[in-house]
Amino acid sequence: MLKGIAASQGIAIAKVYKLVQPELVIERKEAVAEEEVAKFEAALEKTKSDIELIKERASGKLSEAELEIFDAHLMMANDPELSGQIIDMIKNENCNAEYAVDSVANMMVAMFESMDNDYFKERAADVKDVTFRMKCNVVGAVVPDLTTINERVVIVAEDLTPSDTSQLDKKYTVGFATQIGGRTSHSAIMARSLEIPAVVGIPGLLDAVNHGDEIILDAIEGEVILNPTAEQVAEYTEKMKKFNDDKEALKVLLHSKSVTKDGHEVELAANIGTPKDVQGVIDNGGEGVGLYRTEFLYMNSETDFPSEEEQFEAYKTVLENMNGKKVVVRTLDIGGDKKLKYFTFDPEMNPFLGYRAIRLCLDRTDIFRTQLRALIRASVYGKLCIMFPMIATINEFNNAKAIFEEEKAKLIAEGVAVSDKIEVGMMVEIPAAAVLADQFAKVADFFSIGTNDLIQYSMAADRMSEKVSYLYQPLNPSILRLIKMTIDGAHKEGKWTGMCGEMAGDPMAVPVLLGLGLDEFSMSATSILPARKLITEMSLSDAKALAEEALAKNTAEEVSELVKKAINK
Ligand code: PEP
Ligand code: MG
Repeated sequence: MLKGIAASQGIAIAKVYKLVQPELVIERKEAVAEEEVAKFEAALEKTKSDIELIKERASGKLSEAELEIFDAHLMMANDPELSGQIIDMIKNENCNAEYAVDSVANMMVAMFESMDNDYFKERAADVKDVTFRMKCNVVGAVVPDLTTINERVVIVAEDLTPSDTSQLDKKYTVGFATQIGGRTSHSAIMARSLEIPAVVGIPGLLDAVNHGDEIILDAIEGEVILNPTAEQVAEYTEKMKKFNDDKEALKVLLHSKSVTKDGHEVELAANIGTPKDVQGVIDNGGEGVGLYRTEFLYMNSETDFPSEEEQFEAYKTVLENMNGKKVVVRTLDIGGDKKLKYFTFDPEMNPFLGYRAIRLCLDRTDIFRTQLRALIRASVYGKLCIMFPMIATINEFNNAKAIFEEEKAKLIAEGVAVSDKIEVGMMVEIPAAAVLADQFAKVADFFSIGTNDLIQYSMAADRMSEKVSYLYQPLNPSILRLIKMTIDGAHKEGKWTGMCGEMAGDPMAVPVLLGLGLDEFSMSATSILPARKLITEMSLSDAKALAEEALAKNTAEEVSELVKKAINK
């Protein structure tokens, strides 16, 4: 049995799909030109049909814009310039086919990358992708592709990129397990919004697992069992049934309010990554969207930043489908572990502390303004709140807000209908902002506490590293005090505070947060009903007493003991 971190609850029993890129070692060899040309031509044909097949299987699952990447790849594979150069090299140098593909590819990539033009830089990525597939086909290596999965599998990988995760088809991918990552890594967050069981941060996973193995993924305990016995399969099938039955039983709370026994009401909202996730919010009794991570719109775009129109459509869809319920949209939070295919970040020693989120948007105001225009235009379709990520200083907030006001005024001058009720708030995820919350509350309409980053920055512990994952301590009194400062700062100015970090849906944290006065809890949709059950079984006065005691403790363990006692009372 291997152990990791349960990142998205559930149980899955299926075959392993091991997602590893083959490692090709390519060396120059003397060879017979005709034989190598024939090998290359066969590999070229297979490359084209592979791409056609992937495109066919992906259509219906991916958007038109996402499918365009396959056309670009087909065009590249059909380019006589590329194949001509490879064949010439084989003939002139009597070298092996894979070496010729590799050499020509490297030359082309270097040429495209040296051009100061995003379009050509993007072509370099196409050359790499297509020629990688060609090389694999020459040497007979298999290129894994998530869109070709057509049986029930558990994906096993080192990590899944956010765009890998957003392409998973729930019908076939019944779970995933990764070697790296923690509860708040983005693949874990996506797993929760897709409601796919996931265990992350499993040391030694890739060495232990083979493609096609049978696997039990226990994403309640954070365990993985390989090639289980018949008894284990029976035991976990039973456990899976119980998990699903318990989930079903919570449905009685679907349409109830989130009110404590003594009548204090809070709002339970959901975090989403794409407009498609809205259905999950409604199905799980979400009272709003507390965080729409718009960066997925940017990450799923293949060749350029999404246009104003494309963004407008996405925001409008979410607002309309939420039917007048509050939707908090976060402006672009890119950088850190979130990269774009069409934008090159300069290398930095510490990308999580670097050029990201609002820092990038205030520097590249062209990108920021496009997003704000799309949002402001969409504001008439529902109840829109906008928030800025990674705010560290009052000046950053004021500058971002001023750009928002400018774009709003321009749209009004253009005669475009805009709502006059848009709230403009900020994420509190940098300790500096939490400490100064009373001042920020004078300028921001609301706060949403991003505990994934707030804990990472307070503890100086990389949220992607399983080695320091023990420092992810939502219940540490230091974190609780920062949260208290934020909530109190907002309330003093009559503003509301939400929380959209993973802590908001953690059953061990909910009672304390309730007692600290949190107004809105935004979490993975599947955590909403369990949280509602917890809240309706508590009283605010007990929660307040619990929070007060917790703030005075020394360690997260002590707070955890307190909470356990309070819940079991
Ligand atoms: C957070 O930091 O808590 C948060 C909600 O944002 P993200 O996880 O996207 O960084
Ligand atoms: Mg964050």
